[in-house]
Amino acid sequence: MITLKLKNIEDLKTKTGKKNLLIACGLCPYWNFSKEDIDKLGESLNSGFMKLPMLCNYPEIKVDSDEYDRIFVLACGAGSQVVSDVLDKEIIPVADTTGIGVKSDGKIRNYCSACGDCIIDETSGICPIMRCSKSLLNGPCGGVQDGKCEVGDIDCGWIQIGERMTKSGGKDLFMSVRRPRLIK
Ligand code: SF4
Ligand code: SF4
Repeated sequence: MITLKLKNIEDLKTKTGKKNLLIACGLCPYWNFSKEDIDKLGESLNSGFMKLPMLCNYPEIKVDSDEYDRIFVLACGAGSQVVSDVLDKEIIPVADTTGIGVKSDGKIRNYCSACGDCIIDETSGICPIMRCSKSLLNGPCGGVQDGKCEVGDIDCGWIQIGERMTKSGGKDLFMSVRRPRLIK
């Protein structure tokens, strides 16, 4: 799913008008946040609320947008643009899109940034761009301790890559040099 981070609610409150509407995509936001948190967001923004099926499918949006001073959107950057396109109106996104992620042990982790040049065939199926905090392409930095990254509480992506390569006999792949890449 697409991973999202809510923007600062106090900043958003300063953007409200007299009559507000919050449009939420029914897919990724409900995977990132609880229904209760989304309901609270609408209340904090003093907004009417509309949940739509996947915004990335360009659904019909039955809203008279002229009735509202502000239209807030809870969706990824693409879904927010769809609302703006369909309504032909400016919108205010309430979340930032942070990547493509997985949920395990109740935690969301970003696994892919849609870099446009996938190299995980060279890194044992583990993305060094997202699962190494420094996006290093050629092995671990000196900050790894007991398999943990020095930046935040995550397992070092490069230790995981090395372990998987060792299991599959891919030592040569570990030692090969990956050139810096242009990210789209
Ligand atoms: S290298 Fe990483 S960020 Fe790029 S497409 Fe592959 S998984 Fe996604
Ligand atoms: S400790 Fe590992 S995951 Fe963290 S920045 Fe260094 S190489 Fe990357």
